[in-house]
Amino acid sequence: MPIIHIGLDSHDTPKGGCTTHFSILLIKELLKLGVEFIDYPNLIRLNPSIPWKTRGNGAVVLRLKVPENKLAEVLDIAKNLSKEYTGKEYFKYRQPGLAVYIGKDIPHQLRVLYRKALTDVVPLDVALSIASKVGVKILVPKTHRGLVGAISSIGALQDLREDYTFELLAYRSRDYVGLRQRLIDKESVKQVELEYRDTLFNNYDFEFDEAVITPHGPDPVLFGLRGNDPEVLVKALSKIRVLEPISAWCIFRSNQATDAHLVYRRISELRPYQTCMVKATVVSKPEAIKGGHVRLMISDGSGKIYAYFYEPTSTLRKITLKLIPGDQIIVGGSVRPPSRSHPYKSINVEKLVIEKIVDTILRNPKCPRCGKTMKSAGRNKGFKCPKCGYKSNMLSKIPIKISRDVRPGIYTPPIRSMHHLSKPISRIKHENTGHRIKLIDKWCEITSL
Ligand SMILES: [Zn+2]
Repeated sequence: MPIIHIGLDSHDTPKGGCTTHFSILLIKELLKLGVEFIDYPNLIRLNPSIPWKTRGNGAVVLRLKVPENKLAEVLDIAKNLSKEYTGKEYFKYRQPGLAVYIGKDIPHQLRVLYRKALTDVVPLDVALSIASKVGVKILVPKTHRGLVGAISSIGALQDLREDYTFELLAYRSRDYVGLRQRLIDKESVKQVELEYRDTLFNNYDFEFDEAVITPHGPDPVLFGLRGNDPEVLVKALSKIRVLEPISAWCIFRSNQATDAHLVYRRISELRPYQTCMVKATVVSKPEAIKGGHVRLMISDGSGKIYAYFYEPTSTLRKITLKLIPGDQIIVGGSVRPPSRSHPYKSINVEKLVIEKIVDTILRNPKCPRCGKTMKSAGRNKGFKCPKCGYKSNMLSKIPIKISRDVRPGIYTPPIRSMHHLSKPISRIKHENTGHRIKLIDKWCEITSL
């Protein structure tokens, strides 16, 4: 049976709808046809710093086996359903993407395109030209910006082998969509997160005592539970007290919480909107600037750039204020283009690794005659005492141990302000790797969509 990969993106708008919600409707229709899913629906997050992205910049890929004689029907269903879903209202805001690749192995060019869409800016014409080279079918008008995500997310399959997570998304019933409050008992979320803390992550922010599973907008998502193990997500679902109807839920496999978007780059190579990891040395004292933000000049030998730590990343901000010139760090984040308020390119930091801190500083020696701290007498000319005039070029600077209130380590923002792609510290050494995906018996339940 042929294997097909259906990429979907931008089925949402600021006013409602959601690409994952659309994918559930499509899954419901496809299951009726007797297709066989070979993977969980993939929820693929792309570059979070793209300014014209839709909310969350998440695409969905369905990967399934389809009987040869039903292939045409599957494509028709996808196309018509997409049209129906996005055409209902607010159509002028939508540029939905829908693209299909038929074949067992994903072409290398799609993998490269995915990495680019995850870490950089991909123009629509570039995505379309790769799609046509490798035979990706485009099922919406070729002007739709959502095609970038739809095409490139298909190429995520190989990279997911390096690390992936799961998210169980539950959806509201139609009567509740639009009501601001999502009726969920926060205490039960806290209990579930504690009970399964080995495999669940980022569902409860213990630092701020806040459940972080619910979105706040008009979209149909009721909540999303994140974890490393699909079986545990189903168990957790049964333990969360939900006081409004759930119309459907589905487990997605995802690149979320893996740091897949953070790639090493040199400062001199950075271009606007790229994501990056930069290994550098602190060259200026941290400055607290307007709005409670902190900035720091860093250098890696290829160039210098300001790294900005914004207020929502409060933990990071506090640590950053303790850095001093000479400290060796790695910053992960994205490149902000120059603007009126920031005339130079800068890095928006979302992750800080302190590799090595300065623990000694060099001081000028004391005068052996009178005890006053000496001054430099000029380059390679030794030291001179400002008080008694004693001069010597036999003396050298004295290393002095200093105590530091900061330690090497990995620092991330509080859970409630983390990006979807950012890897929480609890997942380090708990990565999911490999490519043998065995679906659990019940990964999706659709009751009343
Ligand atoms: Zn002296």
